[in-house]
Amino acid sequence: MAKSYLRFWGVRGSYASPFPTHLKVGGNTSCVEISVDEHTVICDAGTGIIPLGNKLAAESKTKDVLIVLTHYHWDHICGLPFFVPAFIPDWKINFFGPGESIQEIKQNLDSQMQAPYFPVGTETWMANINYIEPRETKISRGPIDISYYGVHHPGITYGYKIKAANKTIIYVSDNECQFLDKSIKQKMTEFSEEEQQMFEAMNREEYEYELESIQGADILIHDAQYTPEDYETKRGWGHSCYVDVVNYAIDAKVKELYLYHHDPYNDDDAIDKIYEKCQEIIQNRNASLKCFIAREGMEIDLE
Ligand SMILES: [Zn+2]
Ligand SMILES: [Zn+2]
Repeated sequence: MAKSYLRFWGVRGSYASPFPTHLKVGGNTSCVEISVDEHTVICDAGTGIIPLGNKLAAESKTKDVLIVLTHYHWDHICGLPFFVPAFIPDWKINFFGPGESIQEIKQNLDSQMQAPYFPVGTETWMANINYIEPRETKISRGPIDISYYGVHHPGITYGYKIKAANKTIIYVSDNECQFLDKSIKQKMTEFSEEEQQMFEAMNREEYEYELESIQGADILIHDAQYTPEDYETKRGWGHSCYVDVVNYAIDAKVKELYLYHHDPYNDDDAIDKIYEKCQEIIQNRNASLKCFIAREGMEIDLE
């Protein structure tokens, strides 16, 4: 039987950053491959999907992949125009992502390849392209089952819950965790005591929902773009501070957390420091969470 694994092909947020100071962590934008017995699910199509596409075109026996998109911000789709399997006739590419209709999803992907932005359009894709009805609540690929939920990020953005090889993997590339808490706390003094109590209750309810979404996950891949200093100036931009993410994962009893969607401003040394701070938080809370920095090329054995 073929092996089952998860591999990070792109771990960067916002824009590709192939700078000499960033190569230990990696410069490609969001893309994760999950493979179980030759069945392949790809989470997001940032520049990381380009080397993945080259590998699949050379090696895949099934020639059939499912690409699930969290949303259509450029860093999550900009690898698609260079995804080689889409240009090969005997391939089948299945897309799923947020949207009201298949037409809307198709348009979101077509438009980045239209003139004057790109020399050829998606009509040059020779593969069999299949758009999955966006109202489907559960999707699957062989033994891999996928569901999704809404997260806090501008526009409609999904987090994906993926059951593969008896593991629960949660992929949340872009999300401002504890968004309500952060927004309310900042303005709390402006409200009456009654309003403050109401907001506190709303806040608790919201956090319960957030915890439930990731509760007990074996593997959580989560946006950790900002340091506490960055977050002060970028509140409401739709990304998380790593301190909040580590606490969130501990509260939800997640087993392994992979910090993801790294800020291109942060070089390898800066991300090493983030890693150390995260270990401190875990020790101070006496928690059993295992926390890692997602790095390009890193592979997790799912067996
Ligand atoms: Zn992003
Ligand atoms: Zn985004």
